[in-house]
Amino acid sequence: MLSYEQARNKVIEEVGKRKGPRATAVVSVWDALGLVLAQEVKTDREYPPFDRSTRDGYAVRSKETAPGAQLKCVGEIKAGDTVRESLAAGTCLQIMTGAAVPTGADAVVMIEQTSHEGDLVRFERAAQPGQNMVPRGSEASAAQTILTPGMRLGYAELALAAQVGAVQLECARRPRVAILSTGDEVVLIDETPGPFQIRNSNSVSLAAQVRIAGGEPVVLGNAADRIEDLGEKIEGGLKEDVLVLSGGVSMGKYDLVESALKAMGAEFFFDAVAIRPGKPAVFGMCQGKPVFGLPGNPVSTMVTFELFVAPAIDLLSSAEARALPLLEARLAEAMKEKPGLTHFLPARVEWRGAVAEVKALKWQGSGDIAALAKANCFLMVPADREKIEAGENASVLLRKDVV
Ligand code: AMP
Ligand code: MG
Repeated sequence: MLSYEQARNKVIEEVGKRKGPRATAVVSVWDALGLVLAQEVKTDREYPPFDRSTRDGYAVRSKETAPGAQLKCVGEIKAGDTVRESLAAGTCLQIMTGAAVPTGADAVVMIEQTSHEGDLVRFERAAQPGQNMVPRGSEASAAQTILTPGMRLGYAELALAAQVGAVQLECARRPRVAILSTGDEVVLIDETPGPFQIRNSNSVSLAAQVRIAGGEPVVLGNAADRIEDLGEKIEGGLKEDVLVLSGGVSMGKYDLVESALKAMGAEFFFDAVAIRPGKPAVFGMCQGKPVFGLPGNPVSTMVTFELFVAPAIDLLSSAEARALPLLEARLAEAMKEKPGLTHFLPARVEWRGAVAEVKALKWQGSGDIAALAKANCFLMVPADREKIEAGENASVLLRKDVV
């Protein structure tokens, strides 16, 4: 049986092989948050475009500012002012943050380090050449590539694009992820379940996880535990870029997802992983599309999505698979779990200053959505550790939607 790392690497390897060119769309910077860039972005001019003052103070020739020296202030430069004249010897100019330093000046002295009497400014100390100014072109030269294909657009990347006037960006289209739940007991979330039925909560968690991972969810509803119904709905799902099924992958008589996929020509790379919850997770390729069969217990579905499906969505967006958001945290209470499987337990990490401390939450096993709704992470108990003592460090997989 594969470890979760091996299984995850298998997904990355197999989906990575099918990377190829992907469909793109031109998107406004206002709407491009979280998308993966599919073009280069170059600067339209040098940055900064002029020698920029980083302080409110006086533009000076540094060599004229020995301690106690006085210079005549002959005017002011506000941010945005056009600056044509150079600084005359023996004078200074009052200057604001973001304004252009005039030629002739080679430093800005903070107003706090000066005093003045009328138009005479007195300097407390000698200015260093270049202080409190950013030279023209020092952040980027003209026509320099500043964003490249494959980069994910966060707020800083979007601001950088906006800075250079790239207001329309060619981005990878979000991969369309078909979500198909299975189970005779499952009803739609707006239906009233019978006494022994349950609502399809997995369709909702999976759609949310797909969105966070950068995909476009396509919720297909529920298939009955019958080969024909499964086959029909799987066929619909294979029209999308990825198919994610929940339920029907365990050992029960009515767990028919693998058989249904096999009948449609699927090739499997794993059908069990050494984790709890989530052990029966399945990954394969069916008619050229990646297919995941996630166990139906809600917490199992959530964990296995984060471990195995999220990296596939990254790759299908033409980005690198992002690393898992793991953190080392100090264990608040001793833990004991059955060895042989890596456990992912609902837990809460709290920060005491910069030190993270984690505590597992009480739960009733992998059907307990309420426990996970109180958690902000999964506490990982490695397969080879039977016991972790209080105060020891443990790995934590952060829930990136709430932390
Ligand atoms: P399965 O993986 O099909 O054996 O299902 C395991 C458990 O998860 C059972 O208790 C199911 O009732 C439950 N379950 C299966 N599918 C869903 C779903 N879509 N939403 C919520 N719970 C589910
Ligand atoms: Mg089932």
